[in-house]
Amino acid sequence: MKADASPVGSGRADMTVAHALAEAHRAGVDRLDAQLMLAHLLRHPRGWLIAHDDVPLGAHHSSRYVQWLERRGAGEPLAYLLGQAEFCGLTLQVGPEVLIPRPETELLVEWGMQVLAGWPAPPTPARVIDLGCGSGAIALAIRHRHPTAAVTAVDTSAPALDLACRNAEALGLPITPALGNWWSAVAGQRFHLALANPPYVAPGDPHLEALRHEPHSALVAPEQGMADLHRLIDMAPESLHPGGWLLLEHGHDQGQPVRERLRQVGFSEVETRRDLAGLERCTGGRFG
Ligand code: GLN
Repeated sequence: MKADASPVGSGRADMTVAHALAEAHRAGVDRLDAQLMLAHLLRHPRGWLIAHDDVPLGAHHSSRYVQWLERRGAGEPLAYLLGQAEFCGLTLQVGPEVLIPRPETELLVEWGMQVLAGWPAPPTPARVIDLGCGSGAIALAIRHRHPTAAVTAVDTSAPALDLACRNAEALGLPITPALGNWWSAVAGQRFHLALANPPYVAPGDPHLEALRHEPHSALVAPEQGMADLHRLIDMAPESLHPGGWLLLEHGHDQGQPVRERLRQVGFSEVETRRDLAGLERCTGGRFG
């Protein structure tokens, strides 16, 4: 079908799937992103679009779609437009109050699952904590894959913690929320496994421009991005059971200082794992 070349403006009732994809091309929006937007709006799988390119979107959907094209063209992440993101096979609600879960963070979950698999069956459930949970991605993925774990999710942002709770409810995966700053949110408690994807980007890092739609507080930490990693490591000995594990995501050039800090406070079996791009991405160890 020949695409209509007339300006669409705020959307129009007779805009078809084919028109909509042509419009995305003109707006400089990736075809895959446009298909995902249409599939989401029309509530059909993406493959459906191919056989239905003459179906009209209707006034409501076409005006929403045109707004999304504009926002996507201006760099807003697709996940915020759709209000959802996939992580470890789970569909999570996301919004600008939380970082969008990244595929590389699945590495941390895989590692956590290996730790839990090797854990001698405890008399009580394995106690797991996700520090700085955001949307709840790590906490919920662990709870999903290891249903007997008792999972606590901490965040210092009340809106983020609310969203994590809504995701937990929607997915039927109970977790215990705790509002506060890192370990101080669970003072006096001890865990077998702690995972965190804290802010680790250095202030002024040029990559921040591309991340401008995501919460600064979830991305940036003082001391070249190391401040929160240091706090998480330094306070871990009071909050982990002997033999408990701390697994941290970090920047590609932070593996060495994270390994050193872990060893300094008494961690053993310290190891760094690389992401799919071959970059040092997660470091962890066993306390004691
Ligand atoms: N991995 C993210 C990015 O650079 C940063 C996440 C974080 O700071 N925890 O896109």
